Amino acid sequence: MLVLKFGGTSVANAERLKLVSDILKEKFSKEKGLCVVVSAFSGVTDMLIQTTDLAEINDQAYVKRLDDFTSKVADVASKLLDKKALAEIIPDLNENHTVLKNLLSGVALIQEASKKTRDYILSFGERNCAFILNKYLQSIGLPSEYIDARKFIKTDDTFGAARVNFLTTNKEVQNYFKEEGIIYVATGFIGSDITSGRTTTLGRGGSDYSAAIFAAALSSKELEIWTDVSGVLTSDPRKVKKAYTIDEMSYAEAMEMSHFGAKVLYAPTIRPVKEKNIPTRIKNTFSPGDPGTLIHSNPKTTDNAI
Ligand code: ASP
Repeated sequence: MLVLKFGGTSVANAERLKLVSDILKEKFSKEKGLCVVVSAFSGVTDMLIQTTDLAEINDQAYVKRLDDFTSKVADVASKLLDKKALAEIIPDLNENHTVLKNLLSGVALIQEASKKTRDYILSFGERNCAFILNKYLQSIGLPSEYIDARKFIKTDDTFGAARVNFLTTNKEVQNYFKEEGIIYVATGFIGSDITSGRTTTLGRGGSDYSAAIFAAALSSKELEIWTDVSGVLTSDPRKVKKAYTIDEMSYAEAMEMSHFGAKVLYAPTIRPVKEKNIPTRIKNTFSPGDPGTLIHSNPKTTDNAI
């Protein structure tokens, strides 16, 4: 089993989802099983936050923002899927839209959006993305299954930045996931409160963490984080011409860089993979042949990493 995660820019539109699917097809020809964790389409989480903020002050501009979100989802689905596959998921997309619309009109009515409500609203970003990608993979003949991570990633009730209950989460994942012959397409970022079952989120950027949680539970041989740069660079390439990719680094270095604000990985990500000694590779969706950066316990050189 190999766990891979694709971030918002990698799944930003239909064209990019096709690139992702090419990568998955290639991987699936070599690996027994895959678990793919996805973010929302890029910009969508911010869009949903803005929509909620507007609804909370009963600014009717929220209706237009909600329409932007719905159009974005419909646009990706209609460009990616053939007629038959599209027709099969339209009822689900419509249903999602209705629930979201009702939720937001409730927020506007009472002019209040608690963290709990916000987590539920934000979950629509990741859920739509994973749902559509899964349908596309099936439509091109790959055996895939949509995974709503809320059924598996169990957390406390710290809405907005929930803490994971690893004991229950690992049990749920291990009891359900098969090792072979399937591509699971899972929602990043979201989980559910172990007591009430309500939707929670793991903090902004939390899809990396979701992927690490699945990787640890499934003893993935490696965790691949696919982004829009070829690994961790020595410095910002827009500012430093000679910036180059660091081949290898330790978990401690990656963690330190994340804490200091380098966009390596969402900081909590490293703990579950480090504890199980699962190497993590940062890869570039737009240049899949690049080796990227390998984060593991025993890197060759560490002196240029920080
Ligand atoms: N979509 C969420 C965010 O924008 C989670 C993620 O992308 O990792 O924060």
